Amino acid sequence: MKSEVIIQKSHRNPFDHQLRSTGVKLVEIETRDDLQKAVNERTAMMHFTNFANSAGQIKVDEWPKLAKQYNVPCMNDAAADTPPVSHLWDYANMGYDLITFSGGKAIRGPQCAGVLIGHKDLVANALLNNSPHEDTLGRSQKVGKEEIIGMIKALELFLNEDHDALAKDWQDRLEGISRQITKVPGVSTSFFVPEIANHVPHMQITWDPGHINLAPPDASTILRSGKPSIVMGGGEGKPGLAMNSFMLQPGEDKIVAEQLVKLFKEHSA
Ligand SMILES: *Cc1c(COP(=O)(O)O)cnc(C)c1O
Repeated sequence: MKSEVIIQKSHRNPFDHQLRSTGVKLVEIETRDDLQKAVNERTAMMHFTNFANSAGQIKVDEWPKLAKQYNVPCMNDAAADTPPVSHLWDYANMGYDLITFSGGKAIRGPQCAGVLIGHKDLVANALLNNSPHEDTLGRSQKVGKEEIIGMIKALELFLNEDHDALAKDWQDRLEGISRQITKVPGVSTSFFVPEIANHVPHMQITWDPGHINLAPPDASTILRSGKPSIVMGGGEGKPGLAMNSFMLQPGEDKIVAEQLVKLFKEHSA
């Protein structure tokens, strides 16, 4: 069988374990020239990591064009890249032969399911690794009937959602939290949306060390060990803490606000 998958060096990430676990060799390239030299009769696929788009020399729209030119199937790991909902079909229209999305991220379906979109024959090959074919690589990653049905339902609900209203709801939740926590002297918030991957409203929370004596990693630890436990890290390489709200259940935003207010007050000078 063909046994090599080409990937841009800057696109390597922990999730390429799932490629390596098949036994293929990952061939790292950087330039268009490297790519041309790397393609050979053993090349099974050209893999793209969507969130790394800006890091690589070859961008998301050019990768499938080059793959077509070399007659090699190409895949895009876009796990965290809805919303916008149109990404569910944008990459197929761009020419990707296979595209994956997580079930348990913005689609809010089962955590252990996802969707594989693409050419029927290629998806059919992937299915050969799923139940009821037991002696396969996919056996250890079995997706149960419950998750499959849950995934279909989640996808239906997601497609029928009012996405503008949803984005507004996510922003409103953050602003509600912001209104509460900025009442504590020294606390400031600002808002941002990552360009790609978890492209949803985020809030950055910073505080003046003159008012509040608390290092952000300690703030994370205290929140995590609190009751209820809240996991909030530094976000997207920015100072302070950062959060988004699209995984919260209704009412949980109020709990987050309360716990943050309590934390900041306890550490106020
Ligand atoms: C989250 C993520 C995955 C894994 O998706 P799961 O649904 O958690 O299995 C794979 N690749 C990328 C780029 C991701 O962000």
